[in-house]
Amino acid sequence: MAKNRVLTLWDEEGVNEKDTAVLRKKSAEVPVPLDKESRSAVQTLIDSFVGRDDASGLAAPQIGISKRIIVFRNKGFDEKRKVTPDDFEVLINPRITQARGEKVTMSEGCLSCPEIQIEVSRFPEIKVRALNAQGEKISKRYLNYVARVIQHEIDHLDGKLIVDYEGDIYYPKSKEKLFNKLFGGT
Ligand SMILES: [Zn+2]
Repeated sequence: MAKNRVLTLWDEEGVNEKDTAVLRKKSAEVPVPLDKESRSAVQTLIDSFVGRDDASGLAAPQIGISKRIIVFRNKGFDEKRKVTPDDFEVLINPRITQARGEKVTMSEGCLSCPEIQIEVSRFPEIKVRALNAQGEKISKRYLNYVARVIQHEIDHLDGKLIVDYEGDIYYPKSKEKLFNKLFGGT
């Protein structure tokens, strides 16, 4: 199983220029029908996600693959257990075709933005058109937490991360120096 390292915007030293360039790039549409390369990218993303207990979702650019593929948990959020092969769903070329309800604000973390949490407002209900892991066309409605995770992961495909939202930001006191440097605080 090929597992890829998760890229991050920064590390202990400061901005991670190389990773940032990849994370900020808009990912490419996956050709339909799925070719061998795309299938292998889907598998690498799954392999990089399954077994983790620290993530609700992962987008291909986070592991250095600039393709529009995301994976996310669809159950087992509260149990703090590792992701198993029955817990997740893959969406390829996902497009939100409908967003409903009043936006809900909640703090979010991201493997690519280590040690911070930022408040982000997102729709509680979305309808998504995409391909599944087998390359079949689907259109599906998602609610609440899963809808939030999908919106977060789709942002990654457009090079957008939680630090781009205006919400309140939280980080450990011990990291104050680093984050003041990164975000230009006083
Ligand atoms: Zn993220």
